[in-house]
Amino acid sequence: MRAALESAERPLSVDELLEAASRRVKGLGVATVYRAVSTLLAEGWIDAVEIRGEATRYERADKGHHHHFQCEKCDRTFDLSGCLDNVRKLAPPRFRVRQHSVTLYGLCAGCAS
Ligand SMILES: [Zn+2]
Ligand SMILES: [Zn+2]
Repeated sequence: MRAALESAERPLSVDELLEAASRRVKGLGVATVYRAVSTLLAEGWIDAVEIRGEATRYERADKGHHHHFQCEKCDRTFDLSGCLDNVRKLAPPRFRVRQHSVTLYGLCAGCAS
């Protein structure tokens, strides 16, 4: 499971993880994936990626601050590198921003062509 998450270049849902891990290990079941995910979450090795209306995705926790792109056609979630410098400045004066999340929606390169 770690290997599947380590080599994944984007956050994976439980179904996607099962598919990816099944290429390495035969006979894996979805219950095994859920168990592994809950262990890795407890260890802090992975983070949950929550996008409204979507199945939870999981990614390595060591990626650093970044955002996501949700493809509306193939339903895959992609990592975006970097952040918007001005995002904190959207808050009114004297508001304290603690964190933020940004999700872009649209079509990935494969679906757009
Ligand atoms: Zn797509
Ligand atoms: Zn950001």
